[in-house]
Amino acid sequence: MSISSIFIAQQDNHTALRARSAEQRIRQLQALGIELIKRKKDICRAQNKELKTCEMDTEAQLMMLKIELEFISKNLAKWMKPRKVKNSQATMGKKCYIQYEPKGSMLNISTWNAPIAINILPIVGALAAGNSAIVKPSELAPHTATVTHEIISTVFSSNQCAVIEGGPETAQELLKQPFDHIYYTGGHRVGRIVMKAAAENFADITLEMGGKNPAIVDSTADVNNAALKLAWGRMANAGQVCIGPDYILVDKTIEQKFIEEAKAALIRFYNPHGDGFEKSAEFPRLITDGHFQRVKGLIDEAISKGATLEFGGQNDASQRYISPTILSRVNDDMAIMQEEVFGPVMVVIGCEDAEKKLSIIKRQHKPLALYIFSKDRRAINFFLQNTSAGSTVVNHNLIQSGTNPHLPFGGIRHSGTGRIGGFQSFLEFSNPRSVVEAPLGWRDININFPPYSKIYKKLVGKMLS
Ligand code: NAD
Repeated sequence: MSISSIFIAQQDNHTALRARSAEQRIRQLQALGIELIKRKKDICRAQNKELKTCEMDTEAQLMMLKIELEFISKNLAKWMKPRKVKNSQATMGKKCYIQYEPKGSMLNISTWNAPIAINILPIVGALAAGNSAIVKPSELAPHTATVTHEIISTVFSSNQCAVIEGGPETAQELLKQPFDHIYYTGGHRVGRIVMKAAAENFADITLEMGGKNPAIVDSTADVNNAALKLAWGRMANAGQVCIGPDYILVDKTIEQKFIEEAKAALIRFYNPHGDGFEKSAEFPRLITDGHFQRVKGLIDEAISKGATLEFGGQNDASQRYISPTILSRVNDDMAIMQEEVFGPVMVVIGCEDAEKKLSIIKRQHKPLALYIFSKDRRAINFFLQNTSAGSTVVNHNLIQSGTNPHLPFGGIRHSGTGRIGGFQSFLEFSNPRSVVEAPLGWRDININFPPYSKIYKKLVGKMLS
């Protein structure tokens, strides 16, 4: 079936999808959950072929999906009900409520770094809200794309939800269709293409992008704990995590201790027996040769400009492998501070005080995530008050995404727009239609119709005095 015929078939199905009860929608979400678990081994195998992802890390993505599916299933009937709101003087005597209706057709252009989660998670909210959906997985994760395709076509008919595999040309073709909502995960270059295509049809958009996420470690922080957690957060998925801590602003007084603790943590995680980081089954590879060359280039350029290689730096192009690496003495002139690293490199910058840390953060775009490690309430408040980010975690990292459906997930400006997660997923793909209903048989007095009466003028005059 061609892209346009799938799109049209979905449009023709919208009236029926919209009429589906909460119970019917929940049954399908549950079937999706069952199918995902049934295909767990295939999903693990697929992601292992792509990034050398270990089973536990793929299972963590399945956990995120399970949490979202269960939370939405539990609450959907309540969310779908019209929500009564208070009256105002102008709507007195009438019934005012919000009726959530599906937007229509949703497109999910997905990426490769957590492919099963990013292929599926956004469509959970879209389908729950009564929309149709098309998923375009990343061509860089082709094995997961195929499994996703099989799972979706087992659970849904293509006039409700379909997977269309392919690369940029396929995405371009899809973007020509008048979708009601386009959801995109990936980098800025394509984000701009998606935003422009959406503008052609005034489609709503969610952009889930990345950027440079700062982590702040001040002198009151538990250095050992901060280094352990940040080493974990930075090296998860070999640094290919959108909310990973991209650069670490450490108080100069504790910088060396922090680096030593981070080194110890990396050895503990990935080389506990000393037989080599490359032997760790839990340390993935970079996704393509191009990504490998880009990250290696960032490390080489930073060192050539004066950065210190504190740890790691080994690599093997044939395996797309870069060992967990720590760089210090990094500055803004280096490319590594001008683009998202998205690789296994811990960038450590020693700072004299909070103002210096703030000035470095302010020179970057608003990040998807910002992390604060401190025991000082005033310092925590200072950074919360003076920075902006899609999300923040205090004294940890990476735990804010996909773990608590009460917390909306998304970015701000260059790191993205829109939010998903739990109720926010339902809301993102719904039109909250405002309805004002007069009681049946009601007759309005209509004092606000021309020619304006004295009583109406008096009333308005009183309100504005
Ligand atoms: P990408 O932008 O290269 O590709 C993403 C999708 O865009 C793919 O499906 C691809 O086929 C499509 N695409 C590529 N070229 C296109 C074109 N010319 N026209 C239309 N579509 C096109 O992905 P990437 O940049 O390698 O992804 C990594 C980025 O994604 C990082 O910046 C990361 O931070 C971000 N990310 C964000 C989140 C989040 O939730 N905020 C999650 C994961 C990754």
